[in-house]
Amino acid sequence: ASTWANVPQGPPDAILGITEAFKADTFPGKINLGVGAYRDDKGKPYVLPSVLKAEDKVIQSRLNKEYAGITGVPEFTKAAAVLAYGADSSALNRLAITQSISGTGALRIGGEFIKKFYPGAKAIYIPEPSWANHAAVFKDSGLTVHKYAYYNKATIGLDFEGLLADVNKAEPGSVFLFHACAHNPTGIDPTPEQWKQIEQAVKNKGHYSFFDMAYQGFASGDIHTDAFAVRHFVEQGHNICLAQSFAKNMGLYGERIGAFSVVCADAAEQKRVDSQIKIIVRPLYSNPPIHGARIAAQILNTPELYEEWLKEVKEMADRIITMRALLKENLEKLGSKHDWSHITSQIGMFAYTGLTPEQMAGLAEEHVYATKDGRISVAGITSENVGRLAEAIFKVKG
Ligand code: PLP
Repeated sequence: ASTWANVPQGPPDAILGITEAFKADTFPGKINLGVGAYRDDKGKPYVLPSVLKAEDKVIQSRLNKEYAGITGVPEFTKAAAVLAYGADSSALNRLAITQSISGTGALRIGGEFIKKFYPGAKAIYIPEPSWANHAAVFKDSGLTVHKYAYYNKATIGLDFEGLLADVNKAEPGSVFLFHACAHNPTGIDPTPEQWKQIEQAVKNKGHYSFFDMAYQGFASGDIHTDAFAVRHFVEQGHNICLAQSFAKNMGLYGERIGAFSVVCADAAEQKRVDSQIKIIVRPLYSNPPIHGARIAAQILNTPELYEEWLKEVKEMADRIITMRALLKENLEKLGSKHDWSHITSQIGMFAYTGLTPEQMAGLAEEHVYATKDGRISVAGITSENVGRLAEAIFKVKG
């Protein structure tokens, strides 16, 4: 028999299945709301003008292709830290940070670091539901994955009481993963007031916070607003760790640019943590790719490009906010009696429609493709297809 005869067939990725069904559909007005990537109002992938300019600069400077250090391009990581924590943050001079293979790689380094060095249980609490990859990343890092309450099906909103109850129920000193903004898949974020209460509960129980910030700027359109939770926890004395991604806010998806950082007690601790991050990264991939990091560094460190980028982030966020409003408006115009206010109160790339798996299957028959949990990518909605989308939703749900 072949050496690999015992390898079982694995299940296909949920999103890839949707893409395939979408591709196979010959209906001209078909709509793909599965993808987790921004699209412009023509439904096309979007390369930010600031990214094109930064890339031109990088290419013109004819830099060599030597390896970066294990923790990446320093001009990038320094600027990424300022972007996340704020220019005047007390964390900056005691921060261990490494470039990572986008947000996913940052989460994995974090998972490995917690597995090796966290003094409490080697486990992590993630929201229910969460980004589909969280559980897999942390399991493969050797952590036990627990869930905490997040979503209230009845209100299609935050289950704030449930969340607090689970924070309070967990073994003191547990690790909690929080989506910093634009929660995926629900699009439901705690309010600043709720974040303050979560911080209090986390502190009372001596828990440790791990933030995943994959959408800074992409949620509200403002990078500071979106960093509220991260910065608030640090101000309140939490030495958090943080996964950052530049996939969405710079549209650098395939360049795989991100960062993982740990706020340390002081510079001496930072040095020790930094040495161990290098020991984790080295056998994983030696050192990260340089091109995207150079682009991001150009943008973050060149004042004109930075200003331009801030505007472009806001434009992307605003287009999404507009599409949410249009979808709700169209549903109401059709005479839908349901309350669709969650569509506009949610934030970021995704909307959790509250549609059931059966209704989502009905949508597919209307040539609208999205995951069966009822999540739709608002980035896939355009001025042109929003009317037809509303009709399809109205048809399956009323
Ligand atoms: N975390 C969350 C919540 C996400 O939604 C995503 C992407 O969809 C990521 C992390 C990581 O993405 P990437 O590895 O492309 O940066």
